[in-house]
Amino acid sequence: MDDFQKLKQIIFSNRSFLLTTHINPDADAIGSQLAFYEILRKLNKEVFAVNHSSTPYFLQFLDSNNVIEKFDQQNHSQLFQKVDVIILLDLNQTNRIVKMENYFREFAGIKVCIDHHQDPENAFDYIFGNTEYSATGEIIYDFIKSTKIVELDYNIAVQLYTAIMTDTGSFRFERTTSKVHLIAAELLEYGVNPTEIYDKIYSQNHFSKIKLLGEALKTIQLDDTKQIAYMIITNTDIKNTGADESEVDGFVNFCLSIEGVKIGILFFELKDGIKVSFRSKGKIPVNKLAAEFNGGGHLNASGTRLFNVTIEEYLPKIIKAAQNYL
Ligand code: 5GP
Ligand code: MN
Repeated sequence: MDDFQKLKQIIFSNRSFLLTTHINPDADAIGSQLAFYEILRKLNKEVFAVNHSSTPYFLQFLDSNNVIEKFDQQNHSQLFQKVDVIILLDLNQTNRIVKMENYFREFAGIKVCIDHHQDPENAFDYIFGNTEYSATGEIIYDFIKSTKIVELDYNIAVQLYTAIMTDTGSFRFERTTSKVHLIAAELLEYGVNPTEIYDKIYSQNHFSKIKLLGEALKTIQLDDTKQIAYMIITNTDIKNTGADESEVDGFVNFCLSIEGVKIGILFFELKDGIKVSFRSKGKIPVNKLAAEFNGGGHLNASGTRLFNVTIEEYLPKIIKAAQNYL
């Protein structure tokens, strides 16, 4: 039995499912979660979609029926006794479900991971997908097509198209294969409107986000080699602009848009620590760089969160470590 047949069997032989994704979810996370929700609902399964973070406003259109709930210990901890299967989508490190991590670890049912990141944690009964996939949405597309578990429809197509469009950086990142374009083409046949989806994701920004981008751009600096560019966002910037963490998605790419720059880094001050985002060009493995600081991710896009530390303390260490990858 190939992998996807196994996943199909898990679905057919169980009744209730909890779907979740990572902290600060992006469109691949939410789109994949909702596409899977649709699949399971079409099969009349009992499904819960619960996340650590609330869905950012620019992705709310994907969840028009408001099926995704924000994790709350009182309301949701009993789900971990109740469901048969938990599926983690678009992550493979359990610390990325934050408040749900311990419940997941102690969960006695079937633990499934559907993901395209490197180096999965040894915490799952089954892992579907691999790093060849551009997006978790692409894995779900292959799963549907190869097992014919349900018919594709407009709603699923919107979720999968959004997942793939965003995780390929609008069809420009490394894993943008001809297969990815063929999938996108097929999804358009179901009525997906690319102009509308692009507009909803990228052209409905809150004013506060663009103000925050301005603050971040003001801080851009190059290291001595001029091959590393970095920017800083502080709590004060967040307070002054009224923006929030989810809106910072994509800012770090401006670092890579500078000629000669091969690594871009964003330092983001959290209430109780820092978040660092890494981006690279070519074969520079920023997932390895992030792993040096307890994080992870993909070859060209990675990140970490460090608690109870300051940017001042870590910025020089991280730049020095990054220089070893040039
Ligand atoms: P971003 O910088 O957009 O938040 O994250 C880019 C990629 O880095 C994500 O898709 C994810 O793969 C990875 N990543 C970000 N933050 C973390 C983290 O705290 N831990 C791990 N393991 N990976 C992360
Ligand atoms: Mn993804």
